[in-house]
Amino acid sequence: MSDRKAALVTGSTSGIGLGVATAFAKAGMNVTLNGLGDPNEIEKVRAALAAETGVEVRYDGANLMQAEACAGMVESAVGAFGRLDVLVNNAGIQYVSPIEDFPVDKWNAIIALNLSAAFHAIRAAMRPMKERKYGRIINIASAHAHVASPFKSAYVAAKHGILGLTKTVALEGAAFGVRCNAISPGYVLTPLVENQIPDTMKARNMTREQVINDVLLAAQPTKEFVKIEDVAGIALFLTTPAADQINGASLNVDGGWTAQ
Ligand code: NAD
Repeated sequence: MSDRKAALVTGSTSGIGLGVATAFAKAGMNVTLNGLGDPNEIEKVRAALAAETGVEVRYDGANLMQAEACAGMVESAVGAFGRLDVLVNNAGIQYVSPIEDFPVDKWNAIIALNLSAAFHAIRAAMRPMKERKYGRIINIASAHAHVASPFKSAYVAAKHGILGLTKTVALEGAAFGVRCNAISPGYVLTPLVENQIPDTMKARNMTREQVINDVLLAAQPTKEFVKIEDVAGIALFLTTPAADQINGASLNVDGGWTAQ
């Protein structure tokens, strides 16, 4: 078994997940990446992260829509590094529609990935973590775990649900050295969000600044995006001894959104 801590970050081929995995690798942890995308591009990301940090970086292409795939991913991560210290449930998708038109398959997909996949991964990780008397489980929730926005019924339901899951797992792991917390970001300028800006500029006849301030950041008092590094920094902090007594919490990183 390696002396290095081992982390598994779901949905880490892009955006927040990749930022978290990068912070962990830079801190000396061996890392398992997961996510969908072009295999050649993912291999470039994996190899670059390994070369830059000197840790072992492996990739598991499990599609987390399936329960067995979630469990299989956790089992092979434990097998590959002989230990699993940190599990970050980050993979997520979004769909926006009035509820009366909300496609049932989109509801099912969002609940499957944004909520059930975390359950299945934690379910598989809990036993080995309890046995080693150490585990740090971090669920990437959202400001939408605390407040709603119209037309995001599935996303808001899943994100509220993951806070309940977080608290339950925190209680179950408490006496076994396992901690479970959520990080709840406001808007983060991932490629996903960046790609929406040109379309919204056209649709609403707005400048880029208007779209950012009046549409995307309407609810975010700082009028600044949360940075991927802000979320990654908190995730890394949750793996340090200073955070040992933080359990069942949601750390909100939303520029004041949910203070209103
Ligand atoms: P992103 O689209 O950049 O990344 C999503 C990741 O999930 C990618 O790696 C993708 O390949 C992976 N993924 C998608 N479907 C998958 C599947 N079926 N199986 C396995 N992996 C899959 O998104 P992001 O903005 O980085 O979001 C990451 C998390 O942060 C999500 O849970 C999201 O809800 C949450 N979040 C994002 C924001 C934001 O403003 N971007 C705000 C709050 C919370």
